[in-house]
Amino acid sequence: MKRTNHNNGDHFDPKGKQPTEHTIKKWQNAKHTMAFEDKQDFIEMKKGFIKAPDYRVIKDANGKVVWDMEQYEFLFNIKEYKSIHPSLQRQAMLNMNYGLYEVAKDNIYQVRGFDLANITFIKGKTGWIVFDPLTCTETAKAAYELFKEALIEMGKIDDANRKVKAVIYSHSHADHFGGVKGVITPEDAKNGNVEVIAPKGFLEHAISENVHAGNAMSRRMFMQYGLMLDAHPCGHVDQAIGKNTATGELGLIEPNVEIVDDYETRDVDGIEMIFQNTPGTEAPAEMNTYIPHLKAFWAAENIVATIHNIYTLRGALVRDALLWSKKINEALYEFGQKSNVMFTAHSWPRWTTRRIQEVMKDQRDMYANLNNGVLHLANKGVTINEIHNEYKIPETLEDKWHTRSYHGSVKHNSRAVINRYLGYWDANPATLIPLSPYETAPLYVDMMGGSTPIIYKAKELYRDGQYLMAVEILNKLAYARPENQEAKDLLADCYEQIGYQQESTSLRNSFLAGANELRNRVPKLAALKKSGLDMVDSMTTELWLEYIGIKVDNNKAKGLKFIINLTTEEEYPPGLTDELNIKVESLVAEMSNSTFTVINGYQHNECDLKLVVKRKDIVEVMKGETTMTELIEDCKAEATVNPESEYDDPIDIINDLESTLVNFRLGFEILPGTKAFPNIEEVNQTKPLQVDIPSVLGSLQVLRNDISTNIKESETAVNHNILN
Ligand SMILES: [Zn+2]
Repeated sequence: MKRTNHNNGDHFDPKGKQPTEHTIKKWQNAKHTMAFEDKQDFIEMKKGFIKAPDYRVIKDANGKVVWDMEQYEFLFNIKEYKSIHPSLQRQAMLNMNYGLYEVAKDNIYQVRGFDLANITFIKGKTGWIVFDPLTCTETAKAAYELFKEALIEMGKIDDANRKVKAVIYSHSHADHFGGVKGVITPEDAKNGNVEVIAPKGFLEHAISENVHAGNAMSRRMFMQYGLMLDAHPCGHVDQAIGKNTATGELGLIEPNVEIVDDYETRDVDGIEMIFQNTPGTEAPAEMNTYIPHLKAFWAAENIVATIHNIYTLRGALVRDALLWSKKINEALYEFGQKSNVMFTAHSWPRWTTRRIQEVMKDQRDMYANLNNGVLHLANKGVTINEIHNEYKIPETLEDKWHTRSYHGSVKHNSRAVINRYLGYWDANPATLIPLSPYETAPLYVDMMGGSTPIIYKAKELYRDGQYLMAVEILNKLAYARPENQEAKDLLADCYEQIGYQQESTSLRNSFLAGANELRNRVPKLAALKKSGLDMVDSMTTELWLEYIGIKVDNNKAKGLKFIINLTTEEEYPPGLTDELNIKVESLVAEMSNSTFTVINGYQHNECDLKLVVKRKDIVEVMKGETTMTELIEDCKAEATVNPESEYDDPIDIINDLESTLVNFRLGFEILPGTKAFPNIEEVNQTKPLQVDIPSVLGSLQVLRNDISTNIKESETAVNHNILN
C-alpha cells in the first residue's frame, strides 16, 4: 500500500499535517494519566514464544504481497508518535507479536501476526485440530508451515508428521474461515477424513450477513479499516484486534458437523471438547469451546483485548451488548472458574484462573454497563445525539487495558445501544424528516455570509483546537460548495487532528480516511473475480434472488408483470450406496409494482415462465460464468412459457428482468465533492444476474489515483470480505 512520491517527508500525503499543539497536549495528558506501568499484557503477549520466520511479508503464487508486517516496523523505533494516541500506540505494539507461540505445553500452539486473527493448533489423539484458519489460503499455509518447521526444529518429528484431523470455525466472519484451504483440501472434508465443525447457523450467516447491503458495507470498509491509508505514523497504525486485513485468496469449505445445542460435548480426534453456542454476540453464529483435559477455555472472539463493536462502522445490524455480557457470564460460571488458560481468536492468551476471571468479569461488566448505563441515561431523556458525550464507563473499568476503546469505542457503541432499543430518532420533530444536507447547506452558507467568513472562522477554530466546532461549519460549506477545494482541505485538516486524537482504530481510520478522500478524492475500484468464489457456491438460490430484487431499479421496472416458477435440482453425493440423491427446491419469483419478490417452497398455478435448472448451472450464472439466456439457448435450462401468458418467448422474460437491474458502483461518493476524477471510470463488467458484491467475491482491485491532476495509478489488492 505504499506510495512512492512522498513530498512531505513526515507524512505520506503532501497535503498532510503533523499533530498540532492541541493534539500534542491531549497526547501528553493521556500519556501522564494512563497506567502505562502495568505491563501484564506485554508479559502475556510474549509468553511461550517459540520462533518467528525470517520473512515479514507473505506473497501469493504470483508474487503479490498479501500480508505485510514490515510496513509497521516504524513502531519499533521506540519513538513516541504524537500523531498516535499513546494508548493506541501501546496496542499497536502489542499487535506486533509475530510468529509461533506455545499456549499450553506440548498441546496448544498459536501463530499470531500472520493475519488479522490467530490460527491455533491443538493436539488431538492422532493429529492436529485447527481453530480458525485465518482469512486467506496464503497466510494460513505460511502459518501451518512455520508450525511444522518449528516442531521439526524442536525434535518433535512425530508431531510434525501428524495430519490435520479437524478444523473448527468459531464464527461466521471471514477472518476465521477464509484460509481453510491452506490447512486442508475440500476432499478431506468431503470424504470425512477431516471434521469441519461450526456453530449453529454458520454457513447461512457466513454468506448472508454481507449480501443485502453488501456494496454499501464494502464502501464503508474504506472508512473503518482505512484501506487507502499508508502504514505510517500519520496513517494506518493498527487494527485493534490485529495488525490489518490480509488480501489473498479467500476460500470456504462447508462444515460437515454443526453444533446445534446450547452446550454440546463431542469427541474431536479423541479429545473431549465442550462447545457453547453464543449466537447473537460478536457474530450471529459463534461458539466458545472448553477442553477439559487441558483446562483450556477458547473464548472465540467474544473476549478480546479491547471493547468490541456493538456497532461496527462498516455497517451491520447493531449487536446486543446485554446478551453478549450474559454469554460471557455463563462461560465464566461454566468454564472460567476452572480454566488455567484462556485463548482467543484475536489478541493473546491469559493464564491463571485469577487472571482469566479478572478479564472475563471486566469484559462482562463492560458490555453490561454499556447496555445498562446507556439505557439508564436514555430513560432520563438523553438522546442518541448526546449519549456519546454523556455516557462514561466506570473508572474501575477505564483503568483496565483490556476494556479500552481500540476496536469498538465507548463513544460509537453508546449510540448503538440507543439505536438498538429506540431507533435513530431522538424524538425531536426537527430531526424526523429533515431536508437533505445538499438542500439545506446553501441556506446556512448564505446566512453566514458566504465562503470567506466561514473559512476565516474555521481557521480560527482550528488554531484554537476546536476541531469538531470547525467541522460543523466547514461541512456545511463543503455541501454548499462541493467544488471549493480550500474548504475541503481545511475540513480534511480538522478530520486529521480528530483522527490523531482517537484511541480507537475504527474512529481514527474513519477520520483519517475522510481527510484522505477530501484531499485526493475517491479511488478507482474494481472487483477481482478470482477470489472468494467458494462463497458463491454456498449462497442459496433464495438469497441470490433476494439480492436481484435489490438490484431492480423501480423506474426501469415500471409496468412490468411476470411470474417465474423456478425449480432447481442438485445432485448430492451418495452415502454408502451408489445412488445419487436429488435435492429439489421450488421457488416463485414475481415482478409486480416494480417489485421483485421471492418465495421458497411454493409454485404458482399460472406462472408466465416455468424454469427447471440444475443448481450447479444457477451457480455458474451467479458467478458470471454463463447467463440464464445461454442456459436456455443451450437447453441446459428447461424453459416453458404458459400459453395464457402475454409473453411468447422465455428469453423475453429474462431480458425484461435483466433490463431492470443495475450494477452497483463501489466507488460512490460519500463526502461532498470527492467523486473520482472524471477521466477515471470505475471498472464494472459484471453481468446483470451475477453476484457482484465485492464483500462476497472476496477481493477488490483498487487503482489509486494519485494527488492532483497528475494521475498515476497503482494497483492495490484489498481483501474485501467483511470482518468483525
Ligand atoms: Zn475476527
